[in-house]
Amino acid sequence: MKTFEFTRPADGEAAVAAAALAKTAQQGADVRYLAGGTTLVDLMKLSVEAPARVLDINRLPLDKIEAMPDGGLKIGATVRNSDLANHAVVQKDYAVLSQAILQGASAQLRNMATTAGNLLQRTRCVYFRDLAMPCNKREPGTGCPAITGFNRSLAILGTSEHCIASNPSDMCVAMAALEATIHVQGPKGSRSIPIGDFHLLPGETPHRETVLEPGDLITHVTLPPPIAGSKHVYLKLRDRASYEFALASAAVVINVTGENVTRVRIALGGVGTKPWRSPEAEGALVGLPANQASFRKAAEAALRDAKPQSENAFKVELAKRCLAHALQMAATT
Ligand SMILES: Cc1cc2nc3c(=O)[nH]c(=O)nc-3n(C[C@H](O)[C@H](O)[C@H](O)COP(=O)(O)OP(=O)(O)OC[C@H]3O[C@@H](n4cnc5c(N)ncnc54)[C@H](O)[C@@H]3O)c2cc1C
Ligand code: SF4
Repeated sequence: MKTFEFTRPADGEAAVAAAALAKTAQQGADVRYLAGGTTLVDLMKLSVEAPARVLDINRLPLDKIEAMPDGGLKIGATVRNSDLANHAVVQKDYAVLSQAILQGASAQLRNMATTAGNLLQRTRCVYFRDLAMPCNKREPGTGCPAITGFNRSLAILGTSEHCIASNPSDMCVAMAALEATIHVQGPKGSRSIPIGDFHLLPGETPHRETVLEPGDLITHVTLPPPIAGSKHVYLKLRDRASYEFALASAAVVINVTGENVTRVRIALGGVGTKPWRSPEAEGALVGLPANQASFRKAAEAALRDAKPQSENAFKVELAKRCLAHALQMAATT
């Protein structure tokens, strides 16, 4: 691992001022915030990331979960994933989020991992983590060996000819279905970003994964007030039952009144280059009877634009069944 300077900024302003000196907030940033370290330190050990300066933000007062006046929830950037998943309000009113987090990683990792760090975790594409291989995301312009190589676990939605890496987060999928907002303190002030606008599609610039700019510090995430009568399910399908990333997952928040679906929010994981909200599936389902035929229709709509790679065509049907089953589970609980 390259040597680096390690500091603990006294407050958010000092942290932002120090990080604003970086040339980028994306891959290769020479100044990096450190939260739980479960992504960053891993990548530094592999020399995939080699910042000159690491700013430890763990002592900043960003570790609270608080009720908001409008009935929503405010989640601090350094709240540990375990604390968030086990919080009574989250379990009761935002169950899809609790379920998603508890199906990710391991208990030890969740005790370290933070809200902001999870939002910014990197792809598990094997070429990205291997310096001996080219990778457009790690080193722009070098190529994407995954397209003709090992791509079983990679994306089928939102890909480009430059990158097909899947976003590995479970938490973000639930937050997409809950329509979370990410709040950032930057050198030019504070701003709020809906989660759907936070992650970027790879396009021609796969090394640029989010809208963050140098210095931007995620301070907290807010969730809108809970939807009365909604049922929540996060269903994750993977090669083994624990400690494994999703091949396909679905986060569902659904309201059924009488026999019909009156409101639904749907997001998919494991299949998209970003946490994949599906307005197509939502639009296809609202107003229909809450039954298997309708759920299958929604699943078909969600995967209509899927573009499978050489090894992952199985994900198209897997994701459809995952979503249809998650909807069925939610509607019948
Ligand atoms: C073995 C293993 C298995 C895993 N399995 C899963 C899984 O099944 N599902 C899943 O979803 N995840 C999984 N993960 C990923 C894990 O959830 C993430 O590593 C974790 O959430 C990252 O959080 P952190 O606080 O440790 O981030 P860090 O490593 O501290 O930071 C990650 C990135 O975010 C930046 N950052 C951190 N905080 C801020 C902030 N406030 N503002 C701006 N930038 C910030 C850092 O600079 C860094 O670039 C796994 C990880 C490992 C190692
Ligand atoms: S899919 Fe993306 S991360 Fe993987 S090798 Fe291609 S460019 Fe790199």
